[in-house]
Amino acid sequence: MPWHAHSCPFCHKQHANKDALHTHLEQYVSEWRIPADGAHDVLEIHKILHAGDSNHGKQYKCPECLKVIDTQKHFIAHVYYRKHYGKYLYGFEQGIKGRCQQGSWPLPFDEEAALIPQRKGVFNFLGLPYDLRHMIYEFALVFGEIVFLRNGVGVPVEPNQQGLWLQHNPKSNPLSLLIVNRQIYDEGRRLFYSRNSFVFDSPDIPVFLIAISRSNAMLLREVRSEDESLHQDRTGLIRDFWVWEKEDGSQTDIWSDDEACGKLVEALESDSFCFARHPRRLLHLNSDRLSPNDIRKRYNFNVVLGRRRYENGREAGIGKASFELYAGL
Ligand SMILES: [Zn+2]
Ligand SMILES: [Zn+2]
Repeated sequence: MPWHAHSCPFCHKQHANKDALHTHLEQYVSEWRIPADGAHDVLEIHKILHAGDSNHGKQYKCPECLKVIDTQKHFIAHVYYRKHYGKYLYGFEQGIKGRCQQGSWPLPFDEEAALIPQRKGVFNFLGLPYDLRHMIYEFALVFGEIVFLRNGVGVPVEPNQQGLWLQHNPKSNPLSLLIVNRQIYDEGRRLFYSRNSFVFDSPDIPVFLIAISRSNAMLLREVRSEDESLHQDRTGLIRDFWVWEKEDGSQTDIWSDDEACGKLVEALESDSFCFARHPRRLLHLNSDRLSPNDIRKRYNFNVVLGRRRYENGREAGIGKASFELYAGL
């Protein structure tokens, strides 16, 4: 058999066969994934992984509770076990189980009656005029207030067996739009960071600021403390540290200078109730200033998205935010 190269269309890495290539690609789209690197395009990967899979992307609407359900298998199970036959006749129940096991369509109505019509192929989102994309970003990413609830201390993380540092991307990630590709990220982040208010229930602001990096922090309009008895608006306080003047007159900032970062942590701690002292040295994962004593830690937060919704009346949701940073002593 002639050697047939299965090379990754994004990084051009060669694989011995199709399965190995798929395993490689799945690492970029699964729940624990290799972080977006700008080369491996999530949408394109889905297209490759699901090429020729006619059941992929099928959605059904339950005739009784109107719930939208992904995949034929889950829909059949839902209707069958909950007896959600809607207006369709009972009495068909006999024999359904047997038909379920045979794998054919077992329900007492046509599949087409419950199938939600799907667009063929992938919708060309980036082909929309920017104004329309902007409206979609606004709907998806502007929550009004985003409240970070109290956090434990950072937990040290380790790479997986292949030495890769994986990122958690749960299916319910409300910001998953931002990880589709670089252009969408760049357009969406501008609204996300500038149009939401970030409210903290604890002195975790430095973790957030360092993790989102300088280019996103510069977009922030409002960062507040949850405690009403304290001087609330921290935006001014943290802005003072975005350009930090050292004693020798040179200018630096909290992302590139440990002393500036330490001063910000101190300023926030002296200004608020504080149970756990934060490390004075916090480094973004891309930092080239790692020292052997720095430990990679994951900081997890429970987050309320849209406690006060100014924009479109959508209900508040609970999410999780996790940031990985190197922390020093
Ligand atoms: Zn690749
Ligand atoms: Zn139902």
